[in-house]
Amino acid sequence: MSIPAASTAVGSLCLPRSRIRSSALQPMMAVRSGTVSSVTQILTKLQKECATPLPVLRHVADSMGNDMRAGLAVDGASDLKMILSYVDTLPTGNEKGLFYALDLGGTNFRVLRVQLGGIDQRVIATEAQQVSIPQDLMFGTSEELFDFIASGLAKFAEKESGEFQLLQGRKRELGFTFSFPVKQTSISSGILIKWTKGFAVSGTSGKDVVACLNEAMQRQGLQMQVSALVNDAVGTLAGAKYWDNDVMVAVILGTGTNACYVERIDAIPKMPGQKSQSGTTIINTEWGAFSTGLPLTEFDREMDAESINPGEQIFEKTISGMYLGEIVRRVLLKMDEAGSLFGSSMPDKLQTPFSLRTPHICAIQQDTSNNLDEIGSILFNEAGVEAKTEARQIVLEVCDTIAKRGGRLAGAGIVGILHKMEDDMKGLIFGKRTVVAMDGGLYENYPQYRNYLQDAVTELLGPALSENIVIEHSKDGSGIGAALLAAANSKYKHHI
Ligand code: ADP
Ligand code: MG
Repeated sequence: MSIPAASTAVGSLCLPRSRIRSSALQPMMAVRSGTVSSVTQILTKLQKECATPLPVLRHVADSMGNDMRAGLAVDGASDLKMILSYVDTLPTGNEKGLFYALDLGGTNFRVLRVQLGGIDQRVIATEAQQVSIPQDLMFGTSEELFDFIASGLAKFAEKESGEFQLLQGRKRELGFTFSFPVKQTSISSGILIKWTKGFAVSGTSGKDVVACLNEAMQRQGLQMQVSALVNDAVGTLAGAKYWDNDVMVAVILGTGTNACYVERIDAIPKMPGQKSQSGTTIINTEWGAFSTGLPLTEFDREMDAESINPGEQIFEKTISGMYLGEIVRRVLLKMDEAGSLFGSSMPDKLQTPFSLRTPHICAIQQDTSNNLDEIGSILFNEAGVEAKTEARQIVLEVCDTIAKRGGRLAGAGIVGILHKMEDDMKGLIFGKRTVVAMDGGLYENYPQYRNYLQDAVTELLGPALSENIVIEHSKDGSGIGAALLAAANSKYKHHI
């Protein structure tokens, strides 16, 4: 999402004052002291309720580990679904040829092609394109959504240049990254469990999402076959491990959030007799559904109640990009209603859900100027309010409180996974280099969030253990990862 250019004349602009607040009719001094104190009270309460001191982080990390175990033991026994990815053939580096990837996220879909050159040449060429998903398709039918995607893919495939070479006699193969909870039935098939991140597409229930895509590709006359259905976290792990064998966990922090990790087959009681050559597989935790021990506020509860999936995805609603801006908007609205934070200007835009988005609160936190002019501009452009310097300072603190809680809780979740892995097999994680591959627009673009996440990991693990835990951005790992998984699971792999 792009942030509109800042207005330079915020201070001199007037907003329509069609409705006068009752508080504006009170004597000035009384209003000032009363409102200032109620704004401060709301801020203090917010900071207290969002606080994530070490005991809270520890409780979250421990609960994450317990919920992981429960989800591995019995299907449905935990918030965490702990889904088998069927990815036990990770890319080795030997993969060769042309492969495509399609990534359906929450905000965009991306298409990518890669020419793989085997162990010496690795990635010879890549080309990618990104298309944003029109809002109406998020609430339309499955056919409309998949037709839109297949047509984007077909247009991209038409523009294949000479550096990309399909081996003779082969059909183009695709890794399909689908970043929603899916009950995977094989490496190249899976049933949608539920839509998340604001999607509510009809006609997908109980259907194999690969079949949906295949049918749409046929309608487009596109000759391509899906060789791997990949969750975005799983794709990130595969992509990152291709370059660095110490990668054991991958986490997505974008519109939504998820995490996956390398698990031993014999530590999955709910799947007895499951086979894997390596003895390991990747488990997709679907940790967005986690909910134990999270410090929540009235703003979180109200946002959840009004969401299209109330009671679900509580961790996601507390830490991911789709929601952080919206939580801040709700706090600011309450501060304005109860304490005239923005004076007498009518905050019409501020009343619109999701008018303030996470990239805006991120931009707010980057303003280090004395007068916080950039914050003033963002509030004016996005929320339709005029904010004096003191109000801008309050807004900054609200953003920081929400980003800090999100980043630290995400960090606690990561530590929960690492501890679970180490507890099951001493020496697997700690005391040697272990990499957590990170991807997603929130992690990539929000430096304060990233720092809070790292701080929490370091606090929880202590200086000695955290020294060897590398939390690393894996840029577009999931796109390449999906293409690599298509290659590793190619229909023609026995021909290589
Ligand atoms: P998706 O999750 O849809 O696959 P991305 O990983 O690109 O896509 O993440 C996009 C999300 O990242 C946006 O919805 C937004 O919440 C967040 N984001 C994007 N840019 C920024 C930014 N500058 N600051 C903070 N968050 C951002
Ligand atoms: Mg994504």
